[in-house]
Amino acid sequence: MTDLEIDFVCSLVKKVKPSATIAVSMKAAELKRAGKDVIGLGAGEPDFDTPDHIKAAAIAAINAGQTKYTAVDGTPELKQAVINKFHRENGLDFAANQILVSCGAKHSISNLLNAVLNPDDEVIIPAPYWVSYPDMVLLAGGVSVIVDTTQEQDFKMTAMQLENAISDKSRIIILNTPSNPTGKAYRKSELQALGEVLLKYPHVMIASDDIYEHIYWGEEEITNLGVLFPELIDRMVFINGVSKAYAMTGWRIGYAAGPVDVITAMRKIQSQSTSNACSISQAAAVAALDGDQSCLQPMKKAFKERHDWLISALNTISGFSCIEGEGAFYAFPNVKAAIMKIDGIHNDVEFSTWLLEKAQVAVVPGTPFGMPGHVRLSFATSLHNLQKAVKRIADSVNKFF
Ligand code: PMP
Ligand code: GLU
Repeated sequence: MTDLEIDFVCSLVKKVKPSATIAVSMKAAELKRAGKDVIGLGAGEPDFDTPDHIKAAAIAAINAGQTKYTAVDGTPELKQAVINKFHRENGLDFAANQILVSCGAKHSISNLLNAVLNPDDEVIIPAPYWVSYPDMVLLAGGVSVIVDTTQEQDFKMTAMQLENAISDKSRIIILNTPSNPTGKAYRKSELQALGEVLLKYPHVMIASDDIYEHIYWGEEEITNLGVLFPELIDRMVFINGVSKAYAMTGWRIGYAAGPVDVITAMRKIQSQSTSNACSISQAAAVAALDGDQSCLQPMKKAFKERHDWLISALNTISGFSCIEGEGAFYAFPNVKAAIMKIDGIHNDVEFSTWLLEKAQVAVVPGTPFGMPGHVRLSFATSLHNLQKAVKRIADSVNKFF
């Protein structure tokens, strides 16, 4: 409240929670700056540096004077690189007016929800979900319909659950595979079952958040609903970006591809809000998407090695139970048994605060991902850090058993 006792903050924004993933990362950084030996497993961002050829493209863009506004929807070069990427990697063909470049995939999702949601339209979101989806829905005036999954079903929504969640008010479903926070990816047969349901409901759009598609080591080749069901393409929006695959989180480049009317509406929103994404970052993203892709492999290999080590190590901690993922860089153990044993701790939020104080390890509680009783650990950090973190967590937790 101000001195005048007038509250200027709008009631909608008051309902929105700040991003928990960002809050934990900031808290860990603050403690480190204050000289505390905190191991941050909160941030979902690659610890690798952006590859040199991408940085060089940005420097060249600065020197060439590419420091002005660009077209709102992205430079022609980047839009072509995005079109090429979808053709090459996903078997999907888009025209230039079906592409919108934004300031990160987060911005793309926000544009999308604002473009398609009428007041009280429903958005189907399987839980656990990335923390930002429900709050972005709220900000866009929609209502989230959360579909709860279990560890036993690999945290994946079944066709029957989807069918039960669809109503006359459903506007869009958000699918994120491989998933943040579980690392689980939908198999072809599972997508086929979901697609069969979606075919029956032409009023439901599909947002496919594929930001982790390159960080994937599942047995089956990764696929998407658009390739499996070309009939669905006209109501699908593909969300992607360079943050995760190319270690470019700070550059803020994401993009969306979809039906012309929806992309045009998203571009209109962007033209009246942020305008174009950073011109220099766009030049860097062209180098990322069009350039040598061999930089992806070593990062993926490192994430897989860390995953394998971390999942088995977490399962040796008393009261922890964690299933393997097939991608992304997160472990999402069930810690309910540990919470029950530790004096004074009643839930995952308290447990995460306790871990930060006792073990000096920062993790994100499961509750903001829509799944209490769990915590999310990011393994986008060195194996050495992970080993230290697991030892500290085990030393703190095991003594209660
Ligand atoms: N979707 C998911 C599932 C994510 O984890 C992230 C990470 N922040 C994003 C989208 C957005 O990524 P960015 O805005 O950095 O492109
Ligand atoms: N997506 C990452 C995470 O889940 C980055 C932070 C954010 O934007 O949420 O940690």
